[in-house]
Amino acid sequence: MLKLEGIHAHYGHIHALRGVSLQVPDGQIVSLLGSNGAGKSTTLKIISCLMRPKAGSFEIDGESMLSKSSSDLVARGIIHCPEGRRLFGEFTVEENLRIGAYKRKGGSEVEADIEKVCGYFPRLKERMRQRADTLSGGEQQMVAIGRSLMGRPKLLLLDEPSLGIAPKLVTEIFEILSQINAAGTSILLVEQNAYMAMKVSHYSYVLENGAVGLEGDSREMRDNDHVRKLYLGG
Ligand code: ATP
Repeated sequence: MLKLEGIHAHYGHIHALRGVSLQVPDGQIVSLLGSNGAGKSTTLKIISCLMRPKAGSFEIDGESMLSKSSSDLVARGIIHCPEGRRLFGEFTVEENLRIGAYKRKGGSEVEADIEKVCGYFPRLKERMRQRADTLSGGEQQMVAIGRSLMGRPKLLLLDEPSLGIAPKLVTEIFEILSQINAAGTSILLVEQNAYMAMKVSHYSYVLENGAVGLEGDSREMRDNDHVRKLYLGG
């Protein structure tokens, strides 16, 4: 279980997070929503230990992470799948996937995990030898998620997987996120696409100006007229 409590974070004089509290229980998909500049990426930076909060606590399974490093988090199975296309463009799909398993010695487990990733994303199987920078945006996103899965995450931190991707592929990717979750990986899903994120997640938080403005069971929030009007376009 990941838990943030009363997190404040600053960039110089900009007060980006103002007392953010949230939880990702084991086995769940939790979405973190909000418009541009609301503080979603900053929250992810705190969780990835790329930035230290000014105040508040950050715990995993009851242990404080405030003095830990990004590699401590990876060692605990928390893997950050970054926004967009940060793949090694000149490398093939397969090489990119193997990079995700760099902590492991290789051998049959890595091969089995590549097969598993291809099970989730069959279209990658046909493109194993293709250079990553020649893939469509949606396919690159699939490789990015696949590469994170190669690290066998307990908790996957996903930054805007729908960004700049055709709606049909977004639906496909979100369905696969449900399958990945059903196989035992918890997911913190950072999204601007509130409708899709609420559809796939168990619980949602909406950030507004660096604070949680609204939170609740995703299905209840989606069915709530007030939320629909404010966040889901009516
Ligand atoms: P987006 O969806 O546009 O990525 P976000 O919800 O992820 O937005 P953050 O990137 O966390 O929002 O930004 C929160 C606030 O902190 C914003 O006001 C932003 O301008 C500010 N901010 C973010 N990064 C920096 C930085 N490196 N230096 C100064 N201010 C920053």
